[in-house]
Amino acid sequence: MEPMIKILLIDKSQSEFRLIGQLLSKIHHTDYQLTWVDRLDRALEEALSDDFDVILLDYLWENGNGSDILNGARAQGCKVPIIVMTDEMEFDVDHSAIRYGASDYLIKGRIDSQLLERTLRYAMERKAVELKLAKLAHYDPLTGIPNRILFRDRLEHAVELSERDGVGFTLMYLDLDGFKKINDTFGHDAGDELIRTCATRLCECMRKSDSVARIGGDEFTLLLENLDSPTDIAHIAQKVIEVISKPMQVGSHQVMVGCSVGIAIYPEAGTDINTLQKNADMAMYQAKQQKGSRYHFFTEALNHEAHRQLLLETELRAALRREEFTVFYQPRVDIQSGEVRGFEALLRWNHPQRGVLYPPDFMDVAEDTGLIIPIGYWVFHRACQDLKVLKEQRQMDLSMAVNLSIRQFNDDKLVERIASIIKDVGVDGRDIEFELTETAIMENIEKVALCMRALSHLGCEFSLDDFGSGYSSFMHLQRLPISALKIDRSFVADILNRQEDADLVAAMITLANSLNKTIIAEGVEDLDQVDLLKKFGCDQVQGFYFGRPSERESLWHNSEVPVSSHSSYGEVRVSQ
Ligand code: C2E
Ligand code: MG
Ligand code: MG
Repeated sequence: MEPMIKILLIDKSQSEFRLIGQLLSKIHHTDYQLTWVDRLDRALEEALSDDFDVILLDYLWENGNGSDILNGARAQGCKVPIIVMTDEMEFDVDHSAIRYGASDYLIKGRIDSQLLERTLRYAMERKAVELKLAKLAHYDPLTGIPNRILFRDRLEHAVELSERDGVGFTLMYLDLDGFKKINDTFGHDAGDELIRTCATRLCECMRKSDSVARIGGDEFTLLLENLDSPTDIAHIAQKVIEVISKPMQVGSHQVMVGCSVGIAIYPEAGTDINTLQKNADMAMYQAKQQKGSRYHFFTEALNHEAHRQLLLETELRAALRREEFTVFYQPRVDIQSGEVRGFEALLRWNHPQRGVLYPPDFMDVAEDTGLIIPIGYWVFHRACQDLKVLKEQRQMDLSMAVNLSIRQFNDDKLVERIASIIKDVGVDGRDIEFELTETAIMENIEKVALCMRALSHLGCEFSLDDFGSGYSSFMHLQRLPISALKIDRSFVADILNRQEDADLVAAMITLANSLNKTIIAEGVEDLDQVDLLKKFGCDQVQGFYFGRPSERESLWHNSEVPVSSHSSYGEVRVSQ
């Protein structure tokens, strides 16, 4: 017995349904299951449901047209054969139906069992062959992955989507190195096997939403969506190169090939498929010239940036291991008494080749790669140790402010780890203050709020860094345990010569006082600024005038005040 054939009948008349049912029941060697829909508005949904092997469609309706169903079904990728049924006198209709994608037609009133069976069977067989041909035309027979034609379709589609939604995508061209030699040495079968292995490995390392195609002998293309940073893209290229370069078994031999990858990003490398393909190909060619498995971005700027970030990432990892980081401290001073109240811990990196690097030189990469998490713990640990030493040496109340980046909140263990560092080092949680920027807080206010409350239980306080430079929602900020606001350096810089800035700083100070928060001015570089800030009612000041960030050992220099900016000590840096 053959498997059951499922038929969908789209027809308004019940008598037609009965008739078809009767005709089918006379065919003994096959079982049929007939489903009947008598409404046009439900018909398309059923036709697209994938539940049927073949569809019989009445072509003429009073309040609509069977051709709408036919068009709709074909446009939406319905792969089931559709046979239209027309009335006796409508020859031209039959032809138009075939043009719209009908597999065949039957004339009502002239259908008998035999004709019906033959028509159904032929329609299904023809459709199966059609699908097979389409697959042959769109898929590479050797590997089973999309070929050049389907790839161009997909690329076209990606361009359309990107134009509409404004999101980019990445095109990679990949060419094997050393394939020809293997093909010549071990024969075509070995070559084929190698290509198949490459295709499998590529598919395995891509996400579902990406597509891999074979566009020539030893050439593949990759289409990647939802990637925006060049670092992420470079990582994928690197991964692709790694999986291809692993040894492969072909026949009884173990062989190795390399590959070169050219990368074109939409829209920088082109907005139409021809330009994109050409530029990806060109980038691939450049990658090839670099010798050894390499990738290359189409634009020089991106190429440079991706390499800079990747190099920096590797170096940052090594820096953690090799302890190349240090922490410098900058005093925070009470504006009335001039006494040091505490310090802000600022990260420095003694780069083995490039000398001292400052956070703006590497923070973006540390954050993007998540390395800020271990680095942050290292800074916090060191800052706690140094706070302990300073308090013992000076025998006075001191606090330590440590900057926290939003990425550090991605670590679910943040509160736990901070608590254990405080405990291990033996400092008082009440002497610790965390500086957070408004933008960081606003990015994930719910999570940050939870962590802040938990850390408050350890006695830690919080200040809002770079106050005024982002957008603040006071409604939100009021809910958080923030005890101090730090006026961004950019406002303080010009308070002496720009009235607007002076007005703004005065207003911030008034606001902070009314909210009962401590207000700290950053970037104070001379005495006149101090005087004006004092007049405005500022509580604390921090800046080169009172001391440049320096190592713990050189904070106090044979006197009771920290080293001032006029001293030869402290760090020398280009102002940002
Ligand atoms: P920030 O927290 O606003 O730190 C103040 C910055 O202003 C520091 O730059 C400091 O050296 C500089 N500065 C202080 N006084 C003056 C002055 O009078 N004039 C001028 N022109 N500059 C002054 P730095 O150390 O390069 O740090 C830049 C930013 O990097 C910091 O801004 C902070 O957001 C971030 N950062 C520093 N260390 C860490 C850290 O350990 N972890 C995290 N997550 N971020 C850090
Ligand atoms: Mg800060
Ligand atoms: Mg700041």
